[in-house]
Amino acid sequence: MSQRIVILGGGESGVGTALLAKQKGYDVFLSDFDQIKDKYKEMLRQGGIAFEDGGHTEELILNADEVMKSPGIPDETPIVSRIISRNIPIISEIEFAARFTDAKMICITGSNGKTTTTSLIYYILSQAGLNVGLAGNIGRSLALQILDDPKDYYVIELSSFQLDNMYDFRAHIAVLMNITPDHLDRYQFEMQHYVDSKMRIIQNQTPADTFIYWAQDDHIDAELQRRQCSMLNAQWSMVNGQCIEPTTPSSRPARPGHPTLLPFRDEDFERLGLTFSQIGNHNKRNALAAYHAAKSLGIDEQVIRRCLDTFPGVEHRLERVAEIQGVTYINDSKATNVDACYVALEAVNTPIVLILGGKDKGNDYSVLHSIIRTKCRALVFMGADNSKLHEAFRSLDIPTADTHSMADAVRACHSFAQPGDTVLLSPCCASFDLFRNMEDRGEQFRDQVNLLT
Ligand code: ADP
Repeated sequence: MSQRIVILGGGESGVGTALLAKQKGYDVFLSDFDQIKDKYKEMLRQGGIAFEDGGHTEELILNADEVMKSPGIPDETPIVSRIISRNIPIISEIEFAARFTDAKMICITGSNGKTTTTSLIYYILSQAGLNVGLAGNIGRSLALQILDDPKDYYVIELSSFQLDNMYDFRAHIAVLMNITPDHLDRYQFEMQHYVDSKMRIIQNQTPADTFIYWAQDDHIDAELQRRQCSMLNAQWSMVNGQCIEPTTPSSRPARPGHPTLLPFRDEDFERLGLTFSQIGNHNKRNALAAYHAAKSLGIDEQVIRRCLDTFPGVEHRLERVAEIQGVTYINDSKATNVDACYVALEAVNTPIVLILGGKDKGNDYSVLHSIIRTKCRALVFMGADNSKLHEAFRSLDIPTADTHSMADAVRACHSFAQPGDTVLLSPCCASFDLFRNMEDRGEQFRDQVNLLT
């Protein structure tokens, strides 16, 4: 009898998994608690896949040999709890899809910089002429690509949620950008659980593989030391053969051997004489990670350097929109927390008119006081309710404007800004009070800026 796989979640990764599983001879059922988009329903119908939406039918789910869960569904959801209590293995799309390819997997995780670094590595590999796909949190599902357009290499962005349900997957190149507290509500508010999740990117790595990471990150450093893998003597280029043993109870024992460790440090950017099309120190780290990943794959140094200079960047991340009357407009709509706004302010070297505001997730704005005092000409608050922002920045004595739409915010910026300044949308907050999502916010910013011309 064929293996039964049940898929929870009818989005990109769920539908991709369903189609691949069907082709591989599984008995497939897909269930989504919400409505499945028409486009995906059509794909499921065409693939002859049984599915339901708007609720879960337990009898059709709890008889699975294996469950593929979309990364957005927490373990505490009633149906997932039932699956766990029955000891039915739960895996992620990447874990499942990787069973059906021999491609080289280049995987990127971290609290920040995943999308930029993943896109950059993909850009370099494509420009170098490799047959490469982009997957994970970005682009088409890995399962679908393996089904209808298989590649020799995949560059995969991995969130901690995806890593949580990965067991046998092997990353040939693993990149860990940084670890800062995030999503702790999904990790019992235990930082170590979140760290363990991120470190799963190296589980199953062998001596033939490479682990690239930012050596100046306190959490990564502490974790490697905890795993008796002291990096104190490691140089950026040094191949350091030390043992990394998973300590997470849920991870499988490591295969014998260990990956090549490639730590990088901020100073390496200058030491290597690198240049990068994107501004900001954080982007230098993203460039270094990509540089090492591409070098590990044997890509020509000149090609890598050229790609760093020509990389067009990623939408909504310090994206240069226009220069109008000597004022540069930058869209950093992705900056939904105070840390992201801080690195954006650091990256800009002119006086700044800053747009901030939106749905506040309990931000402490005091960490921005000093950098705003030094760099900002004016603050434009843009949210349904700006009272917390007025309160938070009152003491700085910087001109402010109170706005409730993108059109008004951009108009206010235009009147504050002087030639040579930068208008920066880096809102520190989620977008849901005034916009559909952060993409919508960034697009409205672009549109309003372009109306100024
Ligand atoms: P992610 O996919 O991990 O959310 P992105 O590449 O989309 O990361 O970048 C999101 C935001 O995180 C950027 O706008 C920037 O403010 C910040 N960021 C990007 N790279 C780094 C990095 N290496 N270190 C710290 N912050 C970063």
